[in-house]
Amino acid sequence: MTTTAVRATHALDVPAIRRDFPILETIINGHRLVYLDNAATSQKPRQMIDALVAYYTSQNANIHRAAHTLAATATERYEATRQKLARFIGAPSPEEIIFTRNTTEAVNLVASSWGLANVHAGDAIVMTQAEHHSNLVPWQRVAEATGATLTYLPIDDGGMLDLNAAHALIGPRTRVVAITHMSNVLGTIAPIAEIVRITREKAPGAIVVVDGAQSAPHLPIDVAALGCDFFAISAHKMLGPTGVGALWGRRDLLEAMPPFLSGGSMVGHVTFESTTWAPIPQRFEAGTPNIADVIAFGASIDYLDALGMDAVRHHEREITAYALATLRARHPALTFYATDDTNVRGGVVAFNVRNVHPHDVSELLDGRGIAIRAGQHCAHPLHTVLGAVATCRASFYIYNLSEEVDALSEGLAEVEKVFARAIARPQA
Ligand code: PLP
Repeated sequence: MTTTAVRATHALDVPAIRRDFPILETIINGHRLVYLDNAATSQKPRQMIDALVAYYTSQNANIHRAAHTLAATATERYEATRQKLARFIGAPSPEEIIFTRNTTEAVNLVASSWGLANVHAGDAIVMTQAEHHSNLVPWQRVAEATGATLTYLPIDDGGMLDLNAAHALIGPRTRVVAITHMSNVLGTIAPIAEIVRITREKAPGAIVVVDGAQSAPHLPIDVAALGCDFFAISAHKMLGPTGVGALWGRRDLLEAMPPFLSGGSMVGHVTFESTTWAPIPQRFEAGTPNIADVIAFGASIDYLDALGMDAVRHHEREITAYALATLRARHPALTFYATDDTNVRGGVVAFNVRNVHPHDVSELLDGRGIAIRAGQHCAHPLHTVLGAVATCRASFYIYNLSEEVDALSEGLAEVEKVFARAIARPQA
């Protein structure tokens, strides 16, 4: 990244940042790409791509095994990312960071390992109505296997978690509280520290598992300050490559947990009869890991670190506020599903155009080079609560400009023209 990419405290130099992202020059359907699908995956800076190419060009070797120089260098670089990530999310020790494929695998690791060993019939697993399937389905499976019950904390009209319900529904039988930090549909931010406080008071034996897939790319994260027990992330949503995620867990919990996957690299000693486990984090990283992508992820963390997560957050608050104000003012046929208060929300904006299917909206916008997401965003139960068959979702990141919000608005004006008759009818 050019050192000028951060202009002053709290102000990103977006034009300089954009020069680091080659894909933003791409022409889609005759228009310069307007990428507003960052909640699905972020675009990648040259620095991350270069690190990936450099690894395969001149550094490739398997790690933690051989004594030769290439292997030692690869091991060092792989472990350097673990240290960077630990610092980035405020983890007390890099040994508490387990590399996975993604958030989904990180949550499955906790559910399979801790969940199946510690959740029993009659226990309760508490989630929220806003969960992505990745932090919901693994817990449903634990409940099915153990006889535990499932409880969902409701959200209010602004898409915020109802804390009174948390007080009422978290209790002595609660063993797991699994909660998304930032909703991938509503953009709302859950008060994790407060949920942890309630859990410690009402359910001292319970763990709090945080799905940080949407928060780690966009908010400053300090897991120690949040007070949770586990925190899951995906590299590909935070400028990193696909195929890498991570789970942070409290050392005492991780050390007491049985392995998730087993085989090479995760053992202490193996005989024909039995096996002892390696210490953390190796115990949970069976087989050859995704070395190249973990190393490249290190470059993405460096990039975000150089910008500063306070500046990232500031930029997203500004562009989200501009988007909500612009879209509300110019498009009365739009319905939104969450509060506009950027103190408690990030840059994920779900909406619908009256009587127009989100897929039609997305297709017309795509004709102008504008990429948004249409569908249920892996959150079917939440869409039932919202009373929406599907939603359109625009989501912002560090390289988005207010001009791109204007382009979205112009695209929506075309949608309104094409579907004028449907929109004129009362809400179906
Ligand atoms: N949780 C949330 C809130 C998400 O937005 C996503 C992805 O969209 C996930 C979990 C799953 O992430 P991945 O597909 O990288 O495992």
